[in-house]
Amino acid sequence: MNPYEIFLNQLEKGASVLELPEHVVDVLREPERVIEVSIPVRMDDGTVKVFRGWRSEHNTALGPAKGGIRYHWEVTKEEVMALSAWMSMKNALLDLPYGGGKGGVKVNPKQLSEGELERLSRGFMDKIYKYIGPDQDVPAPDVYTNPKIMAWMMDEYEKLAGRKAPGVITGKPLILGGSRGREYATAIGGFFVLREALKLNSTNFEGKTVAIQGFGNAGSFIGKFLYENSAKVVAVSDSKGGIYNPGGLPIPEVIKCKKKTGSVVDFPGAERITNEELLTLDVDILVPAALEGVITEKNADQVKAKYIVELANGPVTPKADEILYNKGTFILPDILANAGGVTVSYFEWVQNRMGYYWDEEEVVEKLDKKMSKAFREMCEAMESYEVNSREASYTVALRRIVEAMEARGVV
Ligand code: GLU
Repeated sequence: MNPYEIFLNQLEKGASVLELPEHVVDVLREPERVIEVSIPVRMDDGTVKVFRGWRSEHNTALGPAKGGIRYHWEVTKEEVMALSAWMSMKNALLDLPYGGGKGGVKVNPKQLSEGELERLSRGFMDKIYKYIGPDQDVPAPDVYTNPKIMAWMMDEYEKLAGRKAPGVITGKPLILGGSRGREYATAIGGFFVLREALKLNSTNFEGKTVAIQGFGNAGSFIGKFLYENSAKVVAVSDSKGGIYNPGGLPIPEVIKCKKKTGSVVDFPGAERITNEELLTLDVDILVPAALEGVITEKNADQVKAKYIVELANGPVTPKADEILYNKGTFILPDILANAGGVTVSYFEWVQNRMGYYWDEEEVVEKLDKKMSKAFREMCEAMESYEVNSREASYTVALRRIVEAMEARGVV
């Protein structure tokens, strides 16, 4: 199954719980618009390289399309389409006034110089410019993109538009209208919903063992929050491999090692493991925080964690879902668990529109409220429809999207 087929499978399940009419589901089966562009970039050696990029707007009934742009050597059109559809669901579940969008450029950014990266980022914005805007489609960071890239893209957009437009993109540097707290928002959002899930089972973080796959922005910050709240993070990994210490890893030190060496693998005093081995460790909490499709029917029955916090988008395939839910695993689905990022993006966009900026405390408090409310709504749907957490989260999201489509007279 490619990622878009996975989305269609999840959509089908949510739609059947809600008994949505076929023509309504039909609208959601297709993205509203997929833009495919080629981006010629002048390389430092004077040659020109051509990169391919996409921006997919899945559904905009609730508002402007919203979602990140990823740079990755394996990006495909279907993947970008799936990610945009998941953004529609995520934004609706969090009750944000947004539809879903996503962008991707097929490139290995680690192989580009800073100048090449800037020219690529500006070039991509030039090509999608007409379809982007604070009231139209609002990009943000995703895998291997960051505030610096958002700044270049915003600057390029403003030059083309001939006016300032900070709300055109989120995840910007603070000095250009970024929001306080955005940097660690995805991680702390996941941390908040995990706290709620533990509370539901009358327990807390104390002494819980954790394995984190992916030590980028989301993975490293949730590691830090869990470490500071007395959980025991025993394993972490990145694209080069993983490390394991059953006695617990000193996460602030591991973060320093990652910053210095570019990876966690050379951290002293830990056993080397593979990314696959990490997923099946005997831990209480598993946090996939890298890419899609890492837990499949092949390894799901070996997953021992009681809680899975999906900080990555789409890390568990539908077949793996079935196996895990049958085992009683509590899955915090991606559209809830990693929604902290886009929720603080929403706060950033609101602050840009007001031209008035909140302090960090206010941002985090507002985020906690939003995440906890979405968690409660998911739990209510689990009870009232007697479905698992993923299906429940889809029903909450779909109800809102369909209501907006009905109000507009689309369906
Ligand atoms: N890329 C993040 C996500 O997948 C954030 C999107 C945003 O802030 O718009 O949710």
